[in-house]
Amino acid sequence: MSRKFDVIVIGGGPAGYVAAIRAAQQGLATACIDAWLNRDGRPAFGGTCLNAGCIPSKALLESSELYHRARVEFANHGIGVGHLELDLGQMQSRKAKIARQLSGGIEGLFKANQVTGFFGYGHLLPDNKVRFTPHDGAAELLEAEHVVLASGSTPVELPMVPFDSDRVVDSWGALDFATVPERLGVIGAGVIGLELGSVWARLGAKVTILEALDEFLPMADAQIARDAQRQFKQQGLDIRLGAKVQDAEVSQAGVRLKYEDTQGGHELAVDKVVVAVGRRPFTQELLDPLAGVDINERGFVEVDDECRTTALNVWAIGDCVRGPMLAHKGSEEGVMVADLIAGKTAEVNYDVIPSIIYTAPEIAWVGQTEQQLKEAGARYKVGTFNFAASGRAQAMDQGAGLVKVIADAESDQILGVHICGPLAGELIGEAVVAMEFQASTEDLQRTIHGHPTLTEAVHEAALSADRRAIHAINR
Ligand code: FAD
Ligand code: NAD
Repeated sequence: MSRKFDVIVIGGGPAGYVAAIRAAQQGLATACIDAWLNRDGRPAFGGTCLNAGCIPSKALLESSELYHRARVEFANHGIGVGHLELDLGQMQSRKAKIARQLSGGIEGLFKANQVTGFFGYGHLLPDNKVRFTPHDGAAELLEAEHVVLASGSTPVELPMVPFDSDRVVDSWGALDFATVPERLGVIGAGVIGLELGSVWARLGAKVTILEALDEFLPMADAQIARDAQRQFKQQGLDIRLGAKVQDAEVSQAGVRLKYEDTQGGHELAVDKVVVAVGRRPFTQELLDPLAGVDINERGFVEVDDECRTTALNVWAIGDCVRGPMLAHKGSEEGVMVADLIAGKTAEVNYDVIPSIIYTAPEIAWVGQTEQQLKEAGARYKVGTFNFAASGRAQAMDQGAGLVKVIADAESDQILGVHICGPLAGELIGEAVVAMEFQASTEDLQRTIHGHPTLTEAVHEAALSADRRAIHAINR
C-alpha cells in the first residue's frame, strides 16, 4: 500500500518548499521530500539557499561589512572604536543561527499549511510513483496525481583544481572558514566570487580573483560593470581578467595556482582557493529512466514555459531547469506550477527577474542592458543619476555609483534599470514593479519619492532620460 497525495514535491529549497506551501494553500494534499543534511548531520528544509547559499552568505556579508566600516569608515563619522577585535567564531555562530531559525520557520509553515514534510531522498518512478528513502530507515512508496521536481544545483568542479574540502573549497566551504586565510585565491569573478571574495577581503584576507573572461561581469550593463570594477579596485580587490587557470599544486604550505593570460604564464601562491565557476543542475538518483522525464545535454530537466516536463503531470522548477539560478526565480516557478495544478491560470514573467550582487557597492538590475538593446538595433534613451548628488547617499558616506534607466525612445516604456551603489538590491524593487506594470519613465517621473531617500536617485535617473533631472546637469 502506498500513501497517496495530490502533489509530491521532491526538493525542499526555495523552489520546492514554496511550491509545496502554495499547493497546500490551494487545498491540495501535499508532501515535500528533502534530502539536505547539514555538516552536523542535521536535516533541514531550505536547500542551498538557506543552508549554504543566499542566507549564510548575506549574514557574513553583513557582519564583514560592519567590521570593515568600523575599521575604515567610522573615523570619518567621528567615531573612534579603539582596538577593534574580530570574533570569527561568533560571526559564524550568528550565521548558523539565522539559517537554523529560518529552516525551522519552514517546518512551522509546513505544519500550518498541512504540508507533510519528509527528510530523505525522493526517486521518481513511472506513473507518478515516488520511492521515498529516509536518512535512517526503510524505503516507502508514495504516489501522487502530480510530482514537482525541485532538486536544485551543485557547484561545478574544475578538473585541474579539484575540491579537497580543506585548501580547495566550493562556496559552502568558503562560508565556513574557521580562520581568515591570509591569502585567498578565488577562481571566477561571477556572483559568488565577488560576494565571498568581498567577505574575506573585508575580514583581512589578501584576495586575488582569477577570471577566465576578458570582460568583467558581462551579464551586467557595461557602464555599471565598469563603475563597479573601478570601486572594487579602489577597495583593493585584485581581479585579474583573462586569467586561465592551468594547474594547481596543493601542499602543506598552501596552493600554487598556475594560470595564463595574454602576458604569458603566472603563478599565484595562496593559502586557500575558492572555486566559483558556476553551478550545474543536480538530478543524481532523482529519476528512474522509465519515468519519461527528459534531461537535456547540459543536464537540465527539459521543461516548457510552464515548467511541464516530458512526463505527464510531472513538473520541474528552480535551478534544475533552464533560466537564471536564482532563489526568487525558482520560488515564482513554484507558485506558478502549484496554481496551474490547481487549475488556475498563472505565468512567470521571465523578462523582469531582478539580479542582485550583494557586494559593496551592491549591483542590481532588471530588464535589458544597453549593449543588448544596441545589438538588437533598438531605439532607446538613457537617463543616469550619480549617487554623488544624492543627499541620503552622502549622509550615508556612500556617494559612489549610479542609477541608469533605459527606456524605449518612442513609447517611453522602461526597458531596463541598472544600479551600482548603496542598497541597490532594495532600490531595484521599485524598478521591478514599474516594469511589471509596463511603466514609462514618465510614470516614475510623476511618482513622489520621499526625501531624503536613495529612491530619489531612481526618480532623478528617470527624469534624466528626458533631460529633466533637477539635481544634475542635463546634457
Ligand atoms: P536548492 O536550493 O539547491 O534546493 C534543492 C533541494 O533539493 C536541496 O535541499 C537538495 O538536498 C534537495 N534534493 C536534491 N535531490 C533530491 C532528491 N532526490 N530527493 C530529495 N531531495 C533532493 N540566489 C539568490 O536569488 N540570491 C542570492 O543572494 C543567492 N546567493 C547565493 C549564494 C551562494 C553561496 C550560492 C551557492 C547560491 C546563491 N544563490 C542565490 C542561488 C540560490 O541558492 C539557488 O538559486 C536556489 O537555492 C535554488 O533553489 P532550488 O530550490 O531550485 O534548489
Ligand atoms: P557565475 O556564473 O555567476 O560566475 C562564474 C564565473 O566564473 C564567470 O564569470 C565565468 O566566466 C568564470 N569562470 C568559468 N570557468 C572559469 C575558469 N576555468 N577559470 C576562471 N574563471 C572561470 O557562477 P557562480 O558565481 O559560481 O554562481 C553560481 C550561481 O549561483 C549563479 O547562477 C548565480 O546566479 C547564483 N548566485 C546568485 C547570487 C545572488 O543572486 N546574489 C549569489 C551567489 C550565487
